[in-house]
This record gives sequence, C-alpha cells and structure tokens, in this order.
Amino acid sequence: MGKPTAFIEIEREQASYRDVAIRMKDYDELYTPVAETTLKSQASRCMDCGVAFCQSDNGCPVSNVCPEWNDLVYRDQWKEALDRLHRTNNFPEFTGRVCPAPCEGSCVLGSVDKPVTIKNIEFAIIERGFQEGWVVAEPPKKRTGKSIAIIGSGPSGLAAAAQLNKAGHSVTVYERVDRIGGLLMYGIPNMKLGKDVVARRVKLLEEEGVKFITGANVGAAGDNIGSDNIGSIGGNAVSAETLKKDNDAVLFCTGATNARDLLVENRELNGIHFAMDFLRANTKSLLDSKLEDGNFISAKDKNVIVIGGGDTGTDCIGTSIRHGAKSVVNFELLPQPGTERADNNPWPLWPKILRVDYGHAEAAEKFGEDPRTYCLLSKGYIGDKDGNLTGIKTVNVEWTSVDGQFKMAEIEGSEKTWEADLILLSMGFLGPEQYANSALDVETDERSNYKAEYDKFTTNVDGVFAAGDCRRGQSLVVWAIDEGRRAAREIDRFLMGESLLP
Ligand SMILES: Cc1cc2nc3c(=O)[nH]c(=O)nc-3n(C[C@H](O)[C@H](O)[C@H](O)COP(=O)(O)OP(=O)(O)OC[C@H]3O[C@@H](n4cnc5c(N)ncnc54)[C@H](O)[C@@H]3O)c2cc1C
Ligand code: SF4
Repeated sequence: MGKPTAFIEIEREQASYRDVAIRMKDYDELYTPVAETTLKSQASRCMDCGVAFCQSDNGCPVSNVCPEWNDLVYRDQWKEALDRLHRTNNFPEFTGRVCPAPCEGSCVLGSVDKPVTIKNIEFAIIERGFQEGWVVAEPPKKRTGKSIAIIGSGPSGLAAAAQLNKAGHSVTVYERVDRIGGLLMYGIPNMKLGKDVVARRVKLLEEEGVKFITGANVGAAGDNIGSDNIGSIGGNAVSAETLKKDNDAVLFCTGATNARDLLVENRELNGIHFAMDFLRANTKSLLDSKLEDGNFISAKDKNVIVIGGGDTGTDCIGTSIRHGAKSVVNFELLPQPGTERADNNPWPLWPKILRVDYGHAEAAEKFGEDPRTYCLLSKGYIGDKDGNLTGIKTVNVEWTSVDGQFKMAEIEGSEKTWEADLILLSMGFLGPEQYANSALDVETDERSNYKAEYDKFTTNVDGVFAAGDCRRGQSLVVWAIDEGRRAAREIDRFLMGESLLP
C-alpha cells in the first residue's frame, strides 16, 4: 500500500486536457504530461482496501490489479508496475487514453471521497515503458504448428492475436479496410487516440510474428462488399470457407457496425449522414493527405446537428468544430442526468451522471454554451427544392415512470424548427453485419449478434469462435480486449487440450 494516510491528506488531482481554445484548432492528442511527483502522490491515495472493487465485478473488465501498480508507482518501481499492468492488459496505451474507467466508478475511496486517478496512472506507466525502451517485441520461443485466422483488427482481434501468438500459434489477421486497428483507427478520432499510438503497437505485434493482411474482406461476394449502411468499405473478397479449411481455427472479431438510422420524413435529403461515415472519412483523409484530398464530409461553415450522444456524438462535435462549423447542436432524446448519483445508482455501480466530455467543452468555448439539448424528439427533416437539407422539425418530450416503466410523451405546442446544413446520426449500433458469419453458417442471437457464450466464445460451427462487439454488441475498448484475451485462451484449449494463457 502507498502512504497509509495519503487518502486523507491528498486531494484527487486529475490530468487536464490541453487548453481548449488551442486544441480545437488541431487534431493532436488532448493529453498533457503529468509531473512524476504528482503521479506518485496520486498513486499513494490508493488505500489497497481489503476488497478492491476497482479490479472486479463492476470495476475493470480486464481485472487490472490497480492497487498493485499504484503501490509500485508510489515506490518508484515503474518497470515492475509495467510488468504487472501488461499481465492483465495487452494494450494499456489504448485504455489509458480512451477507457471511461469503470475502475474509478467502483474505487472504494470513491464511496466517501474522490476516487484514485487510476486511468492517469495506467497511461503514465505504459508511456514511461515506451520511453524507457522497456516495451519490446517478445516473439514466442517455440511454434506449435497450428494456424488461426482472425477476421477483424479492432482491439478484440488484436488482443486475441497477441495472446495466441504468445502461445506459439501462427496468427493471421484479415482486415477489410486499408489500415489496422478497427475503431481504434477509423472510429475514435486522433484527438483521443493518436494513430501513431495504434501503429506503434501493430508494429510490435508484427515483430512478434503476427501477420496482417489489409484490404481483405472476408465472406464478401459480389454485391456483398460493403453491404452495411456505413458507406463503401471495399477490399478484396476473401473466401471464409477457404480460411476455415486452411486454418485450425477461425475467430470472428468483426465489430458491431450496423448503425441505427432515423427514418423520419425526407430521409433522402442530401446532408444527412451516419456519424461513422463522417468520422471514418475524416481520419482517412487526415492520414492520407492532411485533409488536402478533400475526401471527407466537411462541416465547414455549416449549421451542424448531431443526433444522439455517447462517445460517437462527442467525436462528431469535436470533429465538426475542427472543420470550422458555423454552429453545433446535439439532440438528446433522454432527460439530462443529474450531477450526483441517483438513489438507484449507488456506488460501486458505474455512475450515470452528467459528464462534460472534450467535445462539449470545445463547443461551449466556441459557441458560448454546452451543445446538448435534452428531451427532444426529431419529427422530420426539411429540405429545399434541390433536395438539400435545410433543417429539422422537433418536439419536446417528457418522461414519466409508470409502473416502473419509463414512458415518453410528446408535449403539445412544443414543436420547433431548427436550421441545419449537416445532420450526423449518432444513435448507436444495431449489431454486426451478417455477410461474413453467413458464409460459414454461424448463427446469431435475438439481438443479431454472433451467437457464442461469454467465456466460451464457440459458435455453432466447430472451430469457429466469435469475440468483441460482434458477439456482445457495441461496447468499449476494454471489453473488446477482455473478450479477445479470453477467446484466445479458449482457442488455445481447443487446439492443444489445455491452456496456460490467463
Ligand atoms: C466513434 C466511436 C467512438 C468510440 N469511442 C470509444 C471510447 O472513447 N472508449 C471506448 O472504450 N470505446 C469507444 N468506442 C467503442 C469501441 O471502439 C468498440 O467497442 C471497440 O473498438 C470494439 O472492438 P472490436 O474489436 O470488437 O471491433 P471493431 O473495433 O469494430 O473492429 C472490427 C474490425 O473488423 C473489420 N471487419 C468487419 N467485417 C470484416 C470482414 N468481413 N472482413 C475483414 N474485416 C472485417 C472492420 O473493418 C473493423 O476494422 C467508440 C466507438 C465508436 C464508433
Ligand atoms: S482498463 Fe479501464 S477500467 Fe481497467 S484500470 Fe484501466 S482505466 Fe480502469
């Protein structure tokens, strides 16, 4: 344990983002360095409580043993802290940047005071590891002769590849787009996760022996290529049957990419886009040409309305501001959450409270107010005679609890028209696309996810497994890493009869 009395004496001091007025002019990462003395004193606030909720149940999905590395940081044993962190998490540099930190929501200190800055400390440990040259490729000493095809290169596919390669199997990752990383690459924007950070880890995996094939669209045939509703994906068709025949196991890590649409009046107007079309094209153009090729949906000088919140909505707000939008408004259907936990949302559950994310702060700086408007139902888009979007009609709603059920009712007379040149739909995802699994007759569950039990990950087809968002629905990076690691263990067991993987 750190300093026994530190949690009483030392206040929580969270790492701050770069100055809002400066950062919204570029696509560089938001983060600022934290002094080593601050990190050590913040780590010392960890009480090493008898039952560390941060690492179990409602806490960290990969069961990071936060109290152990907090203590090691406090004692200046950074390399040991890194080793301890890597034992449970293959990619702390991703979670240290983008994880919402459920560990902090369930930190025992958080039940009486502000929680330990666990995520900041995780970030510092891994970045110190890279700076010191401690993070190096560690190829397996022996190969088993077994081969595995992983379809999809998001965090679940990468975590599974890392673990299976460690066990000595030959792993090939097939990715339909032109860069590796899944939503780490073409989803979460550069401001939150620099693409050099993703490439740095992919390079290490390559050095360890993992093979990556981009532009490989598995299961696609004819019209099937890019059959989802998030824009054209392309890639060369790769036969799923051949992958199955040529490998000892196949793992689907294809994500949950079917975006929810808002099919109200005049949906066909020009200027209404899915959030992922907007974000993916922006990142690709930024990486290909610093946005000079013009191959992206521009928000410049436009009145932008983002419908739906969450990480995706925030990323649309932040990106629109960087384009130079004239205005940005964010519609939320649900009521505004409180600033404190509600009675039915006690510690150690994830706190459902109002958060001001980076995009909200930037909109407030640029336009003078938080962009979010709550309890708003969109009724129909408005366009001009040329078929271009000019606005949207809404009505306010109120939510009441009837017999324990949350019910919504429109408020008469609250109809309003909003000016809009660009509408970005960010209302969540409806599960995975169905062409890759169909090619191997992999069944789906009632939510259209690939059917495989958590912690077993086997589908109805012998030797075919599924993990990450395509199995559990759109979720979090840390859950995808957890699923990839666990699926790797099950595949290792399937191939070898037993597994030493954690
Ligand atoms: C805009 C946005 C922002 C987000 N922000 C955060 C955040 O801040 N923090 C957080 O924790 N989570 C965030 N998430 C969620 C998180 O990114 C996902 O839960 C996570 O990436 C899921 O990982 P995955 O490996 O299961 O799938 P994905 O990351 O979706 O990767 C799936 C990959 O499979 C590929 N693929 C699909 N089909 C095929 C095929 N047939 N052949 C070959 N390749 C195929 C896809 O191209 C893709 O690269 C965000 C999501 C979005 C959309
Ligand atoms: S991965 Fe997320 S939940 Fe786990 S310790 Fe890191 S920030 Fe917390």
